[in-house]
Amino acid sequence: MAHSTDGFFDIYGGKYVAEVLRRPLDELEEAFSRFMADKDFLAELDTIRRDYIGRPTPLYFAPAATRILGGAQIYIKLEGLANTGAHKINNAIGQCLLAKKMGKKRIIAETGAGQHGLATAAACAKLGLDCTVYMGEVDVRRQQPNVAAMELYGAKVHPVTSGSRTLKDAVNEAMRDWAANPDTTHYVLGSALGPAPFPDMVREFQSVIGKEVKAECEARGIKIGAMVACCGGGSNSIGFFSPFIDEKQPRLIAAEAGGIGPGIGENASRMTGNASREGIMQGYKSRFLLDEDGQALPTRSISAGLDYCGIGPQLAALGMSGRVEFTAVLDKDALEAVSFFARNEGILFALESAHAGAAAMKIAREIPSDQAVIINMSGRGDKDVFITSPVFRPKEWKEFLKSEIARLEADEDVHEA
Ligand SMILES: *Cc1c(COP(=O)(O)O)cnc(C)c1O
Repeated sequence: MAHSTDGFFDIYGGKYVAEVLRRPLDELEEAFSRFMADKDFLAELDTIRRDYIGRPTPLYFAPAATRILGGAQIYIKLEGLANTGAHKINNAIGQCLLAKKMGKKRIIAETGAGQHGLATAAACAKLGLDCTVYMGEVDVRRQQPNVAAMELYGAKVHPVTSGSRTLKDAVNEAMRDWAANPDTTHYVLGSALGPAPFPDMVREFQSVIGKEVKAECEARGIKIGAMVACCGGGSNSIGFFSPFIDEKQPRLIAAEAGGIGPGIGENASRMTGNASREGIMQGYKSRFLLDEDGQALPTRSISAGLDYCGIGPQLAALGMSGRVEFTAVLDKDALEAVSFFARNEGILFALESAHAGAAAMKIAREIPSDQAVIINMSGRGDKDVFITSPVFRPKEWKEFLKSEIARLEADEDVHEA
């Protein structure tokens, strides 16, 4: 099940969209398969990956973690060293380059926490495309640093005021825009979900992560026991796993958000626990956290990137078949993993990626010491300073913010005088 059959992964996937979106989706599917077989396109993509994104990203042997955890050899794929700080740029660059070749001048994207919007804004700046990012008004307010970065890259951030004014409303707004402007515009979806062909396309653009790991392990004689990635929508995990899906080994482990506990509204656990159900939302069939009426349930996670009620259809199918093992990681264990890898290896994990780190810490002893556990560090943690600081040093952080406000207000007084 390394790719879909007519857009389906077992029973999940498909293309459940309004009639107006069929043509742009079909056109995209056709262009995607044509350009992925085009030597010039692939050569151009490779050059951008090398010179702009900074690929290949390092596969780092973590000696202290290996020694302390006392089992498998721990390796970390440092995807967070990619330009813009996370794996999302792999997909954004791939789709934006494809859109440019299709003759589109305008890119739209949805974003929740702002990471996908940021990657898309950067890719558009690099490729000379016009960029509009739809973002729920609530998220715009909460995620000002990313909004500021998107604007620096020249993108227009469009606050969405419908519904709950968060991610799912931003997706709906982006779909509406695309349906109205299919000839000029491409919609860059941010994870391995949504209607076909997005799940296949996003996986292919992210599979560069897994392919680099495979080649490097072969070259360095590393025997892989398990691969561990965090899973929100599923783009970094499916890209990391993709070259290994059709093989029996290694173990593939996806860490989802366990939040503060197992209760409804306390986590974003779609594949562990028993709260999720089969459903159709935003153009695809998968497993979702839904209430009796089929409405999305509230979710919770310390990591914005994993805080989502659905999961990509391919991962849902791989989870149900047992090829991918799912585990839920609590907020507090993710925070502990952030500290552990920062102190012992000098590597600062994003909170999302720290879920993978925490899951690896748990299973390291189950894997023999001549085998590797490879963690995908999907992003680096600099972006999380507003979340980790109030936890690790609340008093100092509050004083810092107060003094910053005081400084800004004093500046204003000077200018007004
Ligand atoms: C967005 C994000 C994720 C979650 O998205 P996936 O599609 O599941 O990969 C994970 N890690 C980081 C750093 C992110 O920014």
